[in-house]
Amino acid sequence: MVLDMTARDRIISFDQSNGVIVVEAGALLKDIIEQTLPLGWMLPVVPGTERITVGGAIGCDVHGKNHPGAGSFGQHVLWLALLRSDGTVTQLSAGRDPDAFWATIGGMGLTGVILQAAIQLQHIETGWALRNRLRTRSLDQTVSVLRTLADRQETDPNHHAIAWLDGHASGDSLGRGIVDEFRPSTTRELPGVVPPFPERREHSTRRGRRSLPGPGLMSKATIVAASTARWHLSRSGNAQLVQLHSALCPLDRAELWPSAFGRAGLIQYQFAVPRGEVSVLRKALTFLVAHRMTPALATLKNLGFGTSGPLSFPIPGWTLAVDLPARWLHDREILRPIDKMVAAAGGRVYLAKDVLTDPSRIPTMYPRLETWRRTQARLDPAHRWTSALAERLGLLQ
Ligand SMILES: Cc1cc2nc3c(=O)[nH]c(=O)nc-3n(C[C@H](O)[C@H](O)[C@H](O)COP(=O)(O)OP(=O)(O)OC[C@H]3O[C@@H](n4cnc5c(N)ncnc54)[C@H](O)[C@@H]3O)c2cc1C
Repeated sequence: MVLDMTARDRIISFDQSNGVIVVEAGALLKDIIEQTLPLGWMLPVVPGTERITVGGAIGCDVHGKNHPGAGSFGQHVLWLALLRSDGTVTQLSAGRDPDAFWATIGGMGLTGVILQAAIQLQHIETGWALRNRLRTRSLDQTVSVLRTLADRQETDPNHHAIAWLDGHASGDSLGRGIVDEFRPSTTRELPGVVPPFPERREHSTRRGRRSLPGPGLMSKATIVAASTARWHLSRSGNAQLVQLHSALCPLDRAELWPSAFGRAGLIQYQFAVPRGEVSVLRKALTFLVAHRMTPALATLKNLGFGTSGPLSFPIPGWTLAVDLPARWLHDREILRPIDKMVAAAGGRVYLAKDVLTDPSRIPTMYPRLETWRRTQARLDPAHRWTSALAERLGLLQ
């Protein structure tokens, strides 16, 4: 039996004086943002899509482009109500059964079903962002720009940064890309005619989401051409005014993105490594180029410090995510050499995205797995909650 939580999507309360919102776990981040942004309150952490539920954001302890300063989603959860497998509902927080609370944050739904959560929103003056863009010529330059930005991000939770990499570039150009940094604009920075909170345009249509037949638009040739053209056509530029939600979730505007990969879809492979392990990024990109697997999308972000759950993904350092057509990954072991490098470097793959990882690497990648297992076993001794991911990776014991 698979639970679909999306019908439990009510906003239960919202206190405009302090920005605390209580929602059911099936509520979409998008719906919360639509309601609270015009009132000057924003979710402090938004991943690359706002079309996910609060339960999914907590279950995977998602991160945004502002992780060094804001931490991950779970750090802004004041409390959550958890349905346990014995039928009882427990309220958990960082002060009330912290082990169970942090085992649920990033716990991939395996400690119980989150029914409701209270989240601390962040005050914001406008729904606009000021974006600076810089085109880089090599991995060293991309990494150096992101490193400088990480220092600023650590002191400002509103400072966002992401690098798009040209996955086809090799040799001296390997890892070249476009680095975007942005922060919400203040009212004083807006030109007089611009309203502080822009009207949202809905891009979603059911028709647009249907997959294209066969391999879709994504072939090696189209990916290489698009990747190269994007880098060549981009220009560095400063202080461009853009809508905050489109800067945060650019792919939500690209309705055709998943369907462009055809019926088989796409697989995103994402890992994190400590700050000093740039060589792993270089080797992973080189591996993909050598195997003629140019990613349709490759992004690099900074991750920072922060309290998080034993199974939470973020560690201080880098996270690289690559979108690959699933049909290139029939051999599910093809990326295992990257898994091996990542694990050896003290890094980990992101469980939220995983279908490929070598299960034997998980205890190395997540050294607090045993701690998490003990709490999980206390909350669900009979292991009634499970998932295909948990079974494949042997998360439960
Ligand atoms: C375009 C795109 C961009 C993305 N960008 C990012 C990014 O920048 N950063 C990032 O961190 N992630 C990113 N993601 C991943 C995404 O944020 C996570 O996979 C998220 O968990 C999906 O939420 P969902 O509501 O779809 O949950 P599902 O996919 O349905 O579930 C995800 C997990 O959460 C658990 N879960 C869901 N609801 C509950 C509940 N009520 N109680 C207990 N457990 C629950 C499930 O068991 C499962 O393990 C991106 C995904 C896409 C498609």
